[in-house]
Amino acid sequence: MPPILAMTAGQITQILRILADAYPDAHCELNFNSPFQLLIAVILSAQCTDKRVNIVTERLFAKYAMPEDFVQLSQAELEAEIKECGLFHTKAKHILATCSELLQKFHGQVPADLALLVGLPGVGRKTANVVASNAFGIPAIGVDTHVLRVANRIGLANSQKVEQVEMQLMQVIPQEQWINSHHRLVWHGRRVCEARHPKCAICPLQQNCRYFAALGA
Ligand code: SF4
Repeated sequence: MPPILAMTAGQITQILRILADAYPDAHCELNFNSPFQLLIAVILSAQCTDKRVNIVTERLFAKYAMPEDFVQLSQAELEAEIKECGLFHTKAKHILATCSELLQKFHGQVPADLALLVGLPGVGRKTANVVASNAFGIPAIGVDTHVLRVANRIGLANSQKVEQVEMQLMQVIPQEQWINSHHRLVWHGRRVCEARHPKCAICPLQQNCRYFAALGA
């Protein structure tokens, strides 16, 4: 794993405090009423906006609320329900396989265990971390595209590999702040540190950001 760029504990504390002040209410923006619903919503959110997923799941969960309901659907029927989320063929396949496995191995319940979550079909580390932390309060940092980009720009991480960034962030962020820091990095990436046009001019992290410092170098 590449060494984390040199940053003092004081600098890291300051960055986390600025993010906390900027986004005191940061939270998961997917709508869900159960761990199962969150799991399905996160699977659907791959390369899709949370806003669109919420539109689809509001309709979907009104008809199919439990794994038992989903396994009654054919692949084609589920694809038709979720097609607006994109990648619908793969997502439908993963959802149906995951529902079958939940019923076969976990009595239809989503396991509150990162290792077991990662073993479900189509559930990678990011999905498992998001479900574990938001549904069960298990400390975890889901590294999505926003977290990856923002953490690298600021200098909290220095890798383009999701798992390495997750490990680096877990090293520099106190465990009790993992869940909130994940949300705050996502919110910052969506609202200010956008992929193509980061709004550095209005960013509260300007003086603490390696990307910004490099712009003026
Ligand atoms: S200063 Fe710019 S690059 Fe750095 S975190 Fe803020 S928006 Fe992102």
